[in-house]
Amino acid sequence: MSVAAKISEFKSCIPKHISLIAVSKTQSIEKIMEAYASEHKIFGENKVQELVSKYEQLPKDIEWHLIGHLQTNKVKYIAPFVTLIHSVDSFKLLQEINKQAVKNNKIINCLLQIYIADEETKFGFSIQEAEHVLSSKEFKEMNNINISGLMGMATNTTNENKIRTEFKSLKKFHDKLNNNGYKLNVLSMGMSSDYKIAIEEGSNMIRVGSLLFGERNYSHN
Ligand SMILES: *Cc1c(COP(=O)(O)O)cnc(C)c1O
Repeated sequence: MSVAAKISEFKSCIPKHISLIAVSKTQSIEKIMEAYASEHKIFGENKVQELVSKYEQLPKDIEWHLIGHLQTNKVKYIAPFVTLIHSVDSFKLLQEINKQAVKNNKIINCLLQIYIADEETKFGFSIQEAEHVLSSKEFKEMNNINISGLMGMATNTTNENKIRTEFKSLKKFHDKLNNNGYKLNVLSMGMSSDYKIAIEEGSNMIRVGSLLFGERNYSHN
């Protein structure tokens, strides 16, 4: 099956309110153009250099999401065109994104990445840290950032109960913030291996790569 057909079929199988981010990291321009042929125009990348290069080569009506760890010194390269940054994991990064947003005379949409897994390698704020940031005076003065929601990654395990518990904890925090007056529409959780559980637990944005494009070719990176 072509990538375009896979995307169309996948979309027809998920509820309408779920946004699909097609994760195109390590995939070639040709593969992404095949996906684009399905009328799908939202793609996610995890590396700044690769994201910028693909942005430059591909049609300008694509919405680009950054889903991987972002270093402060690289924010300037994506600020002019990025649609949503899923992976905001420090206060320092928020400050830099705000600064670059001001320079570009725009508002940059961001998700706070919340650490819900018990793996040392995953980035993110703890729930307490995120609450602290959102209620801080400094954050409230960052007029060029819009926090539109939260993102989280579950532990890479075959234990479905564990994954479910982690997604539940993020959904609970998302609900709590919304009940406290924040307007966080987006809950980005779920990838190829766990998107079904994520949707059951209240995700409304999933980031799916290998299921659509096939296995990644890491040597390409
Ligand atoms: C690579 C990646 C995905 C997609 O992973 P698949 O298993 O290929 O669906 C989702 N989210 C993040 C943050 C990623 O880096």
